[in-house]
Amino acid sequence: MLNLVLFGPPGAGKGTQSAKLIEKYGLIHLSTGDLLRAEITAGTDLGLEAKKLMDQGILVPDSVVIGMIENKLNENKGAAGFIFDGFPRTVAQAEALDTLLEGHQLSIKHMISLEVNQEELTQRLLERGKTSGRPDDQNEDLIRKRVQEYGEKTAPVAGYYASQGKFQGIDGIGEIEEIFGQIVRIIEG
Ligand code: ADP
Repeated sequence: MLNLVLFGPPGAGKGTQSAKLIEKYGLIHLSTGDLLRAEITAGTDLGLEAKKLMDQGILVPDSVVIGMIENKLNENKGAAGFIFDGFPRTVAQAEALDTLLEGHQLSIKHMISLEVNQEELTQRLLERGKTSGRPDDQNEDLIRKRVQEYGEKTAPVAGYYASQGKFQGIDGIGEIEEIFGQIVRIIEG
């Protein structure tokens, strides 16, 4: 089982690298952002509540995303492994993930952090907003709010994994293939 956390601020390239990792290792991709957007599209109560926060660039409550991840772990018991993308985003989520995985006799192997400076992030997200249709990518104030939430609530998650000896930082600026090569080297050690 290969269980990875792909970590980094909005726009760091987690989705791009996840797609390549899935192809190479046959992993299941668990993106809480994608799961929340699916709830919004389906018009569920959870989606309606989450949308109010997401449209302001604020994190949704821990209990909501932890519940979603729990369901997905239960639905995919025979998986080759999981990539967690955009989760955990708070230390409480990281602790809950460890507890959930322990319940399945699983654990995180590596936490891979894509490091990109704020100026580059803003440019990438505005560019993505032109085609993604994501409202949270189309407004510079909202992007700044998301990056601020990241700094305050999510950045401490790096220390959580560092204390377990699982943190691996990578420069997220460069060619997609080159960055992927670095991730593969970490995985294949
Ligand atoms: P990004 O490109 O900003 O990393 P995501 O698709 O991962 O985008 O997330 C979009 C929004 O969904 C976030 O700004 C947040 O409101 C919400 N969200 C996604 N994952 C989580 C999570 N693990 N905890 C809390 N909120 C989340």
